[in-house]
Amino acid sequence: MREGDDGEIAASLAEYGFTPGTGESVDLPGDVVAQLSDLGISSEPSHIAGYRIVVTDKCNMKCSYCFVDTNTGSPDMTEEDLRLGLDLLFEVNRGRPEVTYQWFGGEPTIRPDLMMAGDIYARELAEKFGVGSIQPTVVTNGAKIGDKLIEHFKEFHYGVGVSIDGPPPTNANERVLLSGKPADERIHRNIERMLEAGIHVGANVTPTRWNVNQLPEIVDYVMSLGIKFLYVNTPIPAHGTWIAHGPDLARNLFAARMRALSRGGMLFSHLDRIYQALDSRRPRVFEHLQGCGGVNAALLPGGRISMLDLNWKDPRFVFTLDEVRADRSLLGRAAKQLHPFDGCKTCPALAVCGGPSQNERLLRRTEVPTQDFCDFFNEGLALAVSDNTSLQ
Ligand code: SF4
Repeated sequence: MREGDDGEIAASLAEYGFTPGTGESVDLPGDVVAQLSDLGISSEPSHIAGYRIVVTDKCNMKCSYCFVDTNTGSPDMTEEDLRLGLDLLFEVNRGRPEVTYQWFGGEPTIRPDLMMAGDIYARELAEKFGVGSIQPTVVTNGAKIGDKLIEHFKEFHYGVGVSIDGPPPTNANERVLLSGKPADERIHRNIERMLEAGIHVGANVTPTRWNVNQLPEIVDYVMSLGIKFLYVNTPIPAHGTWIAHGPDLARNLFAARMRALSRGGMLFSHLDRIYQALDSRRPRVFEHLQGCGGVNAALLPGGRISMLDLNWKDPRFVFTLDEVRADRSLLGRAAKQLHPFDGCKTCPALAVCGGPSQNERLLRRTEVPTQDFCDFFNEGLALAVSDNTSLQ
């Protein structure tokens, strides 16, 4: 409990069933593992809930924090590979009310032909496999979106996530064209055209050393563009280190979320794992799974599928479509070892973290989490527990 709360928050929490415990020492990892087992929570996915379709590694920007090796000269996905990859997605998700997938790159709008052909085929597969509806989404830098693609987004009810790191001077630190020129004017025009067409547009913000202390102001800026939905990425350790001071990031995200809510918007981030765990009283230790129990995977060119959606190179996690079809247990390959180091065994954030993900460990090339990573979760937990605004 944070200083100055005088027991009021503890009393409120008690009303909602949170108890201070018996005073006996807690077997922290043991209790969390027992709770997972009591609640039937396992690391085995029930289906594919997030399918990141990597159509190309070509990109018209080169952001230093990007975890993708772009413009390597590797061939794009072929239409045949795409169809086979979608076949697997719908086979695994047979009979589900909805199948979602995400066009990704590089910059996926460099291959609008594949996106359009894939959506039309996905519609056919939904019919064939008794799936209620499809929900395509795309992650784009927004610089190259033509009229035909906007029409297509509208027809297929897309969710379009445009990557923006802040107002033009902040955005220009990373998000410039390969020529070195900013693309903000063009991006703003495309956002406006999509919003006018009634398309659901969100903003993906990546925390960097330039914007991490301006997140609430960035919410204002993004909302001034007409966007009400923001997603702040986890600071991906693409080059082996976290770019952010953990507690500052948690505090700034918390403030940014409040700012968005106060203005009628929504902001999601890694903190939501904490809110979801507190809200549902269910541990959220397996981040390779979504709340529905489905796994996040990536479909790669060449008929391969990676069970890590941020790291596509490690052969221990990359399989052919036929291998996955023959052995569905491979879908659970991204499960991590819980509480892998001694610090986890006494960590208050254990039930909302569980230890670093396979993505995090591989990108950082070490088993041990950084202090910033752990401090982020601990500060985020303290903020959420002491938040008496009922906005968890
Ligand atoms: S925050 Fe750090 S110490 Fe706590 S469970 Fe996660 S990795 Fe372990």
